[in-house]
Amino acid sequence: FITFEGVHKAFGQNVVLDDLSFSVGSGERVTLIGPSGSGKTTILRMLMTLTRPDRGTIKVNGDYLYHEQRGDKLVPASEAHIRKVRSRITMVFQHFNLFPNMKVLRNVTEAPIHVLGKSKDEAEARGKELLEMVGLSDKLDAHPSQLSGGQQQRVAIARALAVDPDVLLLDEVTSALDPEIAAEVLDVLRDIAKTTDVTMLLVTHAMKFARDVSHRVLMFNEGRIIEDGTPEQLFNEPEQDRTRTFLKSVL
Ligand code: ATP
Repeated sequence: FITFEGVHKAFGQNVVLDDLSFSVGSGERVTLIGPSGSGKTTILRMLMTLTRPDRGTIKVNGDYLYHEQRGDKLVPASEAHIRKVRSRITMVFQHFNLFPNMKVLRNVTEAPIHVLGKSKDEAEARGKELLEMVGLSDKLDAHPSQLSGGQQQRVAIARALAVDPDVLLLDEVTSALDPEIAAEVLDVLRDIAKTTDVTMLLVTHAMKFARDVSHRVLMFNEGRIIEDGTPEQLFNEPEQDRTRTFLKSVL
């Protein structure tokens, strides 16, 4: 469903992704782990078109993200094409990034109304449903600044799901939260994993959570995948020394 092929990215001399290839199946939940700076966030940002690859191709649901097919040739994609493929993907960030001047419900209905062209009634009905699912039915009219970090993050999750995405990207969504609050957010995500078939790519240091929700774990080191397996394989019997030392440092 998502395919990276020969993706390369450098910032100056710093090679962040080194001819990286991997695929994620439809409905699969894959966690990216690895030391700081190994390129995990860069992968999510590429899918959000916040960072462009220097070389290589990325495909989502059969469409190239940065290229278009003309006959048997691949050409750089138009902005309209990129926007279209990108519109099926949403991301939840470490620091919530809610619209600060909009009430909670409006945060969730903004994209469905203005990007997908849904009616206000339809968007609000779905928005209320999602906010109920994340336990925030009583906060529809609150402003983000009136909410705790964990509540803000739950709004961000509802907002990301409101466009009914094919792909949900989660980038260290609990790193900025106290452990207890983080656990509440992770419970919400566990429910979502159980009840939807959205394809998920996660970057997290919450290893127990990763183990519970992922079908697969990819271990990154210096811009490459050095190990790829089920959570049981990777966490219980890592093959690489580098994976073992990394896991020791985070568990
Ligand atoms: P972390 O767990 O710390 O978030 P990561 O594996 O997600 O690490 P990335 O955030 O993908 O790593 O970053 C990989 C490298 O790319 C880092 O060395 C970072 O400094 C560098 N980098 C990322 N974005 C930029 C940028 N816009 N300009 C220059 N360097 C960047």
